[in-house]
Amino acid sequence: MKAIQVKQPGGPEAMELVELPVPEPKAGEAVVKLAASGVNFIDVYNREGRYKVALPFVLGQEGAGTVTAVGADVKSVKKGDRVAWASVLGSYAEYAAVPAERLVPVPAGVTDQQAAAAMLQGMTAHYLSHDTFQLKRGQTALVHAAAGGVGLLLTQMAHNIGARVIATVSTEEKARLAREAGADEIILYTQQDFEAETKRLTGGKGVDVVYDSVGKTTFEKGLNVLRPRGMMVLYGGSSGAVPPFDLIALSQKGSLFVTRPTLGHYTLTREELVARSGAVFGMMAAGKLKLRIEHTYPLAEAQRAHRELEGRKTTGKLLLIP
Ligand code: NDP
Repeated sequence: MKAIQVKQPGGPEAMELVELPVPEPKAGEAVVKLAASGVNFIDVYNREGRYKVALPFVLGQEGAGTVTAVGADVKSVKKGDRVAWASVLGSYAEYAAVPAERLVPVPAGVTDQQAAAAMLQGMTAHYLSHDTFQLKRGQTALVHAAAGGVGLLLTQMAHNIGARVIATVSTEEKARLAREAGADEIILYTQQDFEAETKRLTGGKGVDVVYDSVGKTTFEKGLNVLRPRGMMVLYGGSSGAVPPFDLIALSQKGSLFVTRPTLGHYTLTREELVARSGAVFGMMAAGKLKLRIEHTYPLAEAQRAHRELEGRKTTGKLLLIP
C-alpha cells in the first residue's frame, strides 16, 4: 500500500510517499481501507518534531473508510462497516490498523469524506464550546483563526448556542466565510489591533472566553481582552508555541483562568468518544453544522497540502484521498 512516512522530522519535504505492507490486524484492532484522511495542524507539529513521535512513522490522525479485516476479540465492528476515527496515528495511507474501540460508525447520510472531515476538528469544536468553557446564550467569545478547520466549526457551534462571536481572520475572503458561519464581528488581525478592537466591541467589558489556536502571536494580548474571571482556552499554536509565562499575570489581569486542553482528554472513554462524535454527526444531520471541504489532494500530494495549510492559504477542512 501507499503511505506518507516521516523518517526524520523536518519541513514538508520530510514527508515521503512509500510502499508498505498492508497491516494485519492485531488483537483488538480493525484494518480500515481509507476513503479519506483528514489533514490537521497537529500533523505539522508531528512532522516537525514539535510533538515527538518514534521514527519512522506514518503521519495522520484522522480518517474514514471501510473495515476490511478485524483482529481477535473485536466485536464492535465487522468487515464491511463504514467507520471513522481521530487521534490514532497512521491515517495518511491506503490502509490503517486502528484499535476497534477508537472507531465510531459513520451514520447513513454522512459520506466518508464528511466523516473524515468532521471527526477531529468537529469533536474539538464541540468540547471547546460545550465542556472546556460551557458557552451560554448571551455570552461573548473571541475565536481566533475563525475561518480555519476548527475555527469555522467552533464559530457555528458558538453561534448556535446563542453566544456573540468576535472572530479574527487574516483576509477579506476568510472574513466572509467566518461571517457565513455566524460570526457577529470580524477583526482582520493582520491589519487591525485585535486587543483594541475587542475592547471597543465589548464597550471595555471584555469577552467571557478566548479560544486561541494561534498561540505565540495572540496569547498575551488575548489575556488583556478577557473580563474578570474570564477564561483563556489555548488549544493550539499555529504561529508557534507560547513562551513560558508568569502566573501572577492571571491575578493582575482579573483572576483569569487559563487552560491548555487536548481532544484526547475529552474523548477519554469509549462512551465519551461515541457521545461526542454522535453529537457532531447529529448537528450535521440537523443542518446545524456545515462542513467546508474545499481542499482535497491526492495522497501523493501531502506535501502540497501541508505547505498550503502552514502558508495560511486554506479555509475549512483539508483531505487527502488515497
Ligand atoms: P487551521 O485550518 O485553523 O489553520 C491554521 C490557521 O491559523 C491558518 O489558516 C491561519 O488563519 C491561522 N494562523 C495564524 N497565524 C499563523 C501562522 N503564523 N502560521 C500558520 N497559520 C497561522 O488548522 P486546524 O483547524 O487544523 O487547527 C487549528 C489549531 O487548532 C491548530 O493550532 C491545532 O493545533 C489546534 N487544534 C487543537 C486541538 C486540541 O484538542 N487541542 C485539536 C485540533 C486542532 P488566518 O490566516 O485567518 O490567520
